[in-house]
Amino acid sequence: MHSQAMFFRARADERVDNPVLQRALAKAKPLFVGKRAKGIEGLADDGMEFEALRQAAAAIRNRVVDDLDVWLEIFEERARATGAEVLWARDGKEICQLVIDVARRHGVTKAVKSKSMLSEEASLNEALAGAGIRPVETDLGEYIVQLAGEAPSHIIAPAVHKTLAEVEALFACHHGRSPLPRTAADIPALAGEARQVLRQHFLSAEMGISGANFLIAETGSAALVTNEGNGRMVTSLPKVHVVITGIEKIVPTLEDFATLMRLLPRSATGQTISNYVSLLTGTRRPGEAEGAEKTVYILVDNGRAGLLGSPWQDMLRCIRCGACMNHCPVYFSVGGHAYGWVYPGPMGSVLTPLYTGLENALDLPHASTGCNQCGAVCPVGIPLSRLLHDLREAQVARGLRPRRERLGMWAWGRLARWPGLYRWCARRAARYLAWLGGAEGRIRVFGLAPGWTAGRDLPAPSGRTFHELHSSRQTKIG
Ligand code: SF4
Repeated sequence: MHSQAMFFRARADERVDNPVLQRALAKAKPLFVGKRAKGIEGLADDGMEFEALRQAAAAIRNRVVDDLDVWLEIFEERARATGAEVLWARDGKEICQLVIDVARRHGVTKAVKSKSMLSEEASLNEALAGAGIRPVETDLGEYIVQLAGEAPSHIIAPAVHKTLAEVEALFACHHGRSPLPRTAADIPALAGEARQVLRQHFLSAEMGISGANFLIAETGSAALVTNEGNGRMVTSLPKVHVVITGIEKIVPTLEDFATLMRLLPRSATGQTISNYVSLLTGTRRPGEAEGAEKTVYILVDNGRAGLLGSPWQDMLRCIRCGACMNHCPVYFSVGGHAYGWVYPGPMGSVLTPLYTGLENALDLPHASTGCNQCGAVCPVGIPLSRLLHDLREAQVARGLRPRRERLGMWAWGRLARWPGLYRWCARRAARYLAWLGGAEGRIRVFGLAPGWTAGRDLPAPSGRTFHELHSSRQTKIG
């Protein structure tokens, strides 16, 4: 997917002014937050504690990331022993080439797909279509965005930005039927309609393409965690199954997988367990009624190996649950498309600059209020706020911030070296802001930073600086 992250500000402005998107986001946020809160509360009923589980999950992921080469070799050896083929891709271009080669070897003309963010990284659908192979997304949300010609806007709810009316209109147009009256459209009916259409594709596709939530090293298996039955259709009906996944998705054992599964569905959707948890090992064995005759794993780097040993290595622990974006005030103000690449929200604000280049995503490390809700809910304890802060520092070190900002910081630095002058300026500024706030104590328009008051009033300071308040308290105590 070609990154548009450079245009985050402009894209965010457009989306803040889009009432349809804002309605869809306002509806989704409380659902995500409420369900996760209930799911995490439920851990106590099962005798588990979130913080202890989180530390265990982080330790599992760290163990893998610290010795990634070793675990990858173990996985490769075990997967080959089950009859699967294991291929390696350095980047998106290689992913596309490998999938097209496999498709050509097996005479594939249509590929059904289950959700795979890596295929989004690689723009695989475009490459397949260019090679004469029809890709059909089968996760309901992915199917909707494919019909709309859009990219997913959320990693677990790809069409969260769409309203019911928009989906109804889209289906009417693409399924060749008349639009339904507004009151007649409902979610179960639309899901049923999509199911009818997709069933034909499942039965006629020669290849299934999926991602994997985890790769289990000890058994050479892929674990797929879904809420729709499409994952099982994609991986078991077509004769060829291709799994495309990042090299960091390994977990050592089935027991480790079980630990992570205590947190993944709860963090993502609040469920104790997802509707479908599939462990796929090797190919169809003699006597088995279903399963792919050919299984191919494509293990992808695309920037991941570069994070090993770097200050951002913690990010490789990510299990793609989406909790960070579900709790992010910036994500729910601008929606996922504003971020301009595959991964939105706080995890995207870290990953996009790292995978596509810091200079190509200048605003993303700043797309944060610093509230650290993302870090607080992350089930593998990724310090997202700290990583965003480190990216900002890296931008400054590389001279990637705008001239005006650098000049401002330079002036601030000079001023801070003269405590007397600094205090005098701070006093003047505090008095001025208090005067600006008037009797109400609220600043309605702040000329120096108009963005701060564009959508809300800025509470005015009391008129006294921190130093003044601190000294007066000391005097009283004394
Ligand atoms: S960074 Fe943490 S919260 Fe966000 S998707 Fe990854 S694991 Fe989930």
